[in-house]
Amino acid sequence: MTSTNGRKKVIAIDGPAGSGKSTVARALAVRLGFDYLDTGALYRAAALKLTRSGLNESSDDAALSTVLRNTSIEYKNAAVYLDSEDVSVEIRTPEAGHFSSIFSARKPVRDYLLDIQRNAGLSTDIVAEGRDMATVVFPDAWKKFYVTADEQVRAQRRYKQLKEKKADVTKKEAIADVASRDARDTARALAPLVRAADAVEIDTTNLSIEETIQKMLKALAI
Ligand code: C5P
Repeated sequence: MTSTNGRKKVIAIDGPAGSGKSTVARALAVRLGFDYLDTGALYRAAALKLTRSGLNESSDDAALSTVLRNTSIEYKNAAVYLDSEDVSVEIRTPEAGHFSSIFSARKPVRDYLLDIQRNAGLSTDIVAEGRDMATVVFPDAWKKFYVTADEQVRAQRRYKQLKEKKADVTKKEAIADVASRDARDTARALAPLVRAADAVEIDTTNLSIEETIQKMLKALAI
């Protein structure tokens, strides 16, 4: 399927942690026969490489760039590869989530991942999900959505997800994590989480996954 300008179609979905955007993005991609691009997984993999290299939030941009220059991150078949190692499970820990949010505010990291994300939309139609899909990475996306939900509901969903993965986390910690990630992702200077002016906003607080997908399909006029 190609868009009117001959390029592949991109459905850009942004939203805060726990909004349900990953679940609906994945399901929407399957329904439409599009590829799914989880850009949070790329940020998590980059953060994993940086922490494994001994870097932290005090490290300067030059140190980050040096490590990333010798790094390969690939997203294929819903798995993420860091220097050819499948890190799909390791990037899902609360610690990896924390560091991805810290390092994602840094220019060398965002610059490094920009082409990787854009290249994913060159050869196939994609549903791309993250924080800046509609605003920075794919400003010309075919369709744009901003998926959100009440903060308590998002924290509860995140807690359930982490527990299903047997993570050692309390509900209080999950609530604090969602709040601090929201604060960092929306307040940062580079590519902050914000609804694009031309994005369709969907509040999933009282919606099931299926209801959310139906709203999206309706907006896509499919
Ligand atoms: O979506 P997920 O929770 O996996 O994303 C992890 C972190 O990566 C987010 O908290 C955010 O800081 C960062 N991120 C980003 N831009 C994106 C996707 C994720 O800054 N497009």
